[in-house]
Amino acid sequence: MFTNVINLITIVIDLAFTFAIKIKSILDFSSLNYRDIKELSVHGRYISSSQLHSFLNSNSVRKKITFLGNSVASRPIHKITLGSGKINILMWSQMHGNETTTTKAVLDLVNYLNEESDLANQLLSSVTLTIVPVLNPDGAAIYTRENANKIDLNRDALELSQPESKILRVLYNEIKPDYCFNLHDQRTIFNVGGLEKPATLSFLAPAHDMDRTVSSGRGKSMKIIVAMHKALSAILPDQIGRYDDAFNPNCVGDTFQMLGTTTILFEAGHYAEDYEREKTREFIFYALVKAILVIARNEIQGYNMDEYFNIPENSKRYFDLMISNAQLINPKYDQNIGILYKEVLDEGAIIFNPYIEKTGNLQDCFGHKCLNCEDQNDFDFIKSNRKLNELLF
Ligand SMILES: [Zn+2]
Repeated sequence: MFTNVINLITIVIDLAFTFAIKIKSILDFSSLNYRDIKELSVHGRYISSSQLHSFLNSNSVRKKITFLGNSVASRPIHKITLGSGKINILMWSQMHGNETTTTKAVLDLVNYLNEESDLANQLLSSVTLTIVPVLNPDGAAIYTRENANKIDLNRDALELSQPESKILRVLYNEIKPDYCFNLHDQRTIFNVGGLEKPATLSFLAPAHDMDRTVSSGRGKSMKIIVAMHKALSAILPDQIGRYDDAFNPNCVGDTFQMLGTTTILFEAGHYAEDYEREKTREFIFYALVKAILVIARNEIQGYNMDEYFNIPENSKRYFDLMISNAQLINPKYDQNIGILYKEVLDEGAIIFNPYIEKTGNLQDCFGHKCLNCEDQNDFDFIKSNRKLNELLF
């Protein structure tokens, strides 16, 4: 009799365990049908204000937007509100005007949640999402990091000297979010740890004090990041990094974490051959869905915070283009040239202009593209490329 009971308990535990695993793995990204929900009106690195406003004024979105205030140059800033759940999530994108990847992903997210699938409805019954798709519309218009007063809004969290900073803070005070997502792009220079792999995604659980203490709120940020890292690593192995956690209360994420809100920094980075950041946009979309899912289903405590520290930190070892044996082009160059691309707004699109960042041995550096002047094909390519020719010869 006793053995039977033990056996029965074992079977029940096994079943429960199998069921739990099934629930955990339920989010198969391919089931989100990304192709069908992707917002096709925005593409590439530049989003014009007319593109954004035609999205905001579309039938399925119009009723969910609220005007929050104007930027320095009197451009309107809006929020989109979705869902009716008790858990409040506030996210904002394009605080830096030239960082559009997360904005594209956020529009995709709005499309997905408006689709009224079972999963979307389930999420929206648990959470209320407040989304500011573009916090810095003046910077967005001319593709600059700063706002129209040339202020970096992510260094204005304490002073609140700019109307955009005030708008975000008033919104924060009004909705008292349980979670904040601070959405950014990062440059192509970042690799993951010591690997020759670009940091396509990076995350940070911002510190809330100089000692980088792990409060329960910050611990939750770490666990949500672990959840996203686990889910995304399956489709993006070794290309997810962790950002430096030096505390700076002028940064918005650090301030909101300091005020007690679990905050996560998302950084969209480079993926091979994807300078338009369309592939990265898709990964950010998946990361957002995963984070919201973990929060909505109250699964955060199932993740191990220690695993956050196993995510490699970012390093800065990439050039966009690495040219080796450059002395064959011009004897003034010493061995290798590390070239970066400057993103320039040109008639409504972004063009990439090469400039020399560094020359010399560059032994520990990587190139997203590598050309060797000893190779005749590479040499001919450099000679025939107008921008490289002007730069190097
Ligand atoms: Zn940024």
